[in-house]
Amino acid sequence: MAARSLRIGLIPGDGIGREVIPAGKKIIESLPSSLGLSFSFVDLDAGFDCFKRTGAALPDKTVETLKKECDGALFGAVRYAPHLPSNDPSNHHPTNTNPPQSSPSTKVAGYSSPIVAMRKSLSLYANVRPCKTVLSPTFPSPTKTPIDLVIVRENTEDLYVKEEKTYPDPSDPTGKAQIAEAIKRISSKASWRIADIAGQIALRRDKMRKASGAEVSHTKSGMVTITHKSNVLSQTDGLFRSTAREALSQPHFNALKIEEQIVDSMVYKLFLQPEYYDVIVAPNLYGDLLSDGSAALVGSLGLVPSANVGEGIIIGEPCHGSAPDIEGKGIANPIATIRSVGVMLEFMDLPEAAEVIYKAVDANIAEGRLVTPDLGGRATTEEVTNDIIRRM
Ligand code: ATP
Ligand code: MG
Repeated sequence: MAARSLRIGLIPGDGIGREVIPAGKKIIESLPSSLGLSFSFVDLDAGFDCFKRTGAALPDKTVETLKKECDGALFGAVRYAPHLPSNDPSNHHPTNTNPPQSSPSTKVAGYSSPIVAMRKSLSLYANVRPCKTVLSPTFPSPTKTPIDLVIVRENTEDLYVKEEKTYPDPSDPTGKAQIAEAIKRISSKASWRIADIAGQIALRRDKMRKASGAEVSHTKSGMVTITHKSNVLSQTDGLFRSTAREALSQPHFNALKIEEQIVDSMVYKLFLQPEYYDVIVAPNLYGDLLSDGSAALVGSLGLVPSANVGEGIIIGEPCHGSAPDIEGKGIANPIATIRSVGVMLEFMDLPEAAEVIYKAVDANIAEGRLVTPDLGGRATTEEVTNDIIRRM
């Protein structure tokens, strides 16, 4: 069998991105040769440190290389709003005693996170975030029952088209009051392709569950839940809902169970009975909220992977940020990145390779001997990575 060769871009970015991306690379290099895969790598630059050095948060060369050379990539983390020194006057925020998150007062002139630009320039229209609990002796699960679900978030439109305007409120005679408006744009094209991806994911998960011999006790396996608010937003969310329904009624999705749920009741049920769900597909804003909510149900940001998917390249990305509080200590949990390698491989149509990684990660967490401090352990990033490799 001829080896399939794949080229992977490595974009560590900032903070712990530089500690977890090498772990992801090592995992790829350690995949069993019996899979018949060969990998080559190219190091690429992006993020805040890159901005300081080069003046660009996402250099053209990075985008060009990803487009022309790479089948996949791993993206570490970038600072959203760089943490300025506390004596910096632009960092003063009277009501905020916590470390700055993304308040406008911490913006650095000319810098904006490259993630949005990267998604645009590479047509990465779906953000896929699997959230899975593995019961651990060192780390209590936030949910009573283990969860295993995926949020599939549309990534190009909805309120994120960022078409906003502010104008004087005509009902106010003083002329001081204002009105702000934002456009929520939903297209049938984007709704169709995101629902189609969700359907493919549900089919693949069902197949992988059955192939791995996992007990498929949940009636949920192979289920897609379409999330919307069409009872209020009958045109925008109405279009999302009807198009998603249509896409998921294609004959090759016959084996799937399709449900829909209004987003507010979705949140309620997600918190009460998260084990019910398999694949959830949502427009951009609801997907954003549901993704972070679901990540919280797993318990540590260090565990949750994601993939950015579109027409070409697939980019795996841990869902955590640059974590400046633990940067440089060698204790960042590499599992979010290692699982992101798995999700990337799944989308490259290499589910067997992904499964090797998932099983090794699950076994590492379940044993709980070599885990990082966020999971109640004392192991380093490197020790966890090596333990997972040993299990592969
Ligand atoms: P950014 O602005 O880059 O998002 P942040 O300060 O919001 O940075 P996050 O990366 O979002 O930090 O992390 C939030 C919290 O979760 C931090 O306390 C961080 O230490 C913890 N955390 C995030 N990722 C990991 C990881 N891989 N391993 C262990 N802890 C993590
Ligand atoms: Mg953050």
